[in-house]
Amino acid sequence: MSIVVENYRRIRAEIPPHVLLLAVSKTHTVQKILELYQYGVRDFGENKVQDLLEKAAQLPSDIRWHLIGHLQRNKVKSLASTVHLIHSLDSERLFVELAKEAKRLNIQVSVLIQVQISPEDTKFGMPIAEVIPFIATHFPAAQGHVQLKGLMGMASFVSDKQLIANEFNKLRELFQRVKAIPDFSHISILSMGMSQDWPQAVQAESTCVRIGSDIFGQRS
Ligand SMILES: *Cc1c(COP(=O)(O)O)cnc(C)c1O
Repeated sequence: MSIVVENYRRIRAEIPPHVLLLAVSKTHTVQKILELYQYGVRDFGENKVQDLLEKAAQLPSDIRWHLIGHLQRNKVKSLASTVHLIHSLDSERLFVELAKEAKRLNIQVSVLIQVQISPEDTKFGMPIAEVIPFIATHFPAAQGHVQLKGLMGMASFVSDKQLIANEFNKLRELFQRVKAIPDFSHISILSMGMSQDWPQAVQAESTCVRIGSDIFGQRS
């Protein structure tokens, strides 16, 4: 059995069955992705639109591609019809662009709102206080072409496990507040946890961990 499959199996066995283990294949080869595919893995995450599209073109069409990195508005057109879930919706301008493109193509695009939970990470992600007003304004009761599926966050890159747990717990609380809004009780994805912090994320009720280096080895 290949090393990436062994790694995947080991982590899969440690994570509760209802939690999606998203294999973050950024910077890794199509060959390694295929090894996991042949084992049965279908969900892969990339952080760059160009890489996602290039890999998607070379790999089986039943792979579910997740965009986990920052999305620029000028890349929306090329991405919309290929991506399964965008984890990084973080601005109104991006939302408007996505809605426009999805309407033009007459498709539905599924998104998570990326939320700022770490004081270090102020470049991307929506501030916590803006998330519920944003949802109330932009996702009408009868959802349109952009479908909200949940929230995503990244904890501080530190060794302090309690700090990490606190940040994940903040996101879980926000998730519960969103689910309490009428018409949003169905949202189901809380995307948090990476190689270094997934145990804390699972403890905080993550439903999707995004694991790269622990499956594929250090970034090449
Ligand atoms: C790279 C990346 C991951 C995976 O990180 P690892 O530490 O390699 O597991 C998860 N989420 C996002 C947003 C990433 O960019």
